[in-house]
Amino acid sequence: MKGKASTSLDHHFWYFERFKGPRIFDARDAELVNNRFTLEELKHELHNAELEESTSKAFCEWEREDYWNQYKGLIEYLYYGRLRLRQLDESRTRKARNGRSIQEIKEANDIVETIGIFVELKKVGNSYFGRCPFHDDHSPSFYVYTDTQRWHCFSCLKNGDVIDFVKGIKGLDTAGAIKELSRGCA
Ligand SMILES: [Zn+2]
Repeated sequence: MKGKASTSLDHHFWYFERFKGPRIFDARDAELVNNRFTLEELKHELHNAELEESTSKAFCEWEREDYWNQYKGLIEYLYYGRLRLRQLDESRTRKARNGRSIQEIKEANDIVETIGIFVELKKVGNSYFGRCPFHDDHSPSFYVYTDTQRWHCFSCLKNGDVIDFVKGIKGLDTAGAIKELSRGCA
């Protein structure tokens, strides 16, 4: 994490000098603080600075208030910068993992075999049809296509891939359907 939070630190200090008077902390302090605290500790430090700031304000200790106000600004800057980095990292990891597994799961679960567990399907050409499980279907209007690995109901117009089918039939969200398909749907 070292150094990462100080990319636009110059701007942060410029802002302080411009709008809040002589600054108390410099880039060296920022680096020290950043290396000293974990993300959780920064959060706690932020809360602490807020308390100190409002206490000094209540006692009209303006110098002390200025100190804590600037310290709070510094911590805020470091905390939200690092929080954003962590969130970016997490979402990147999640995307990579999902991207891989969704493709693998679709390949491992043939749509006709999976839907065939729940719906009696008849073959016609390259596709299959049967009664739609998502509405009260009297004439078979539910089609499953092997080439595109998708399904479509011509009455209720619901459609999707194997994951959407499991979501609908079992009342699950995407993550739940993926889990279900990973361990074998039946
Ligand atoms: Zn339908």
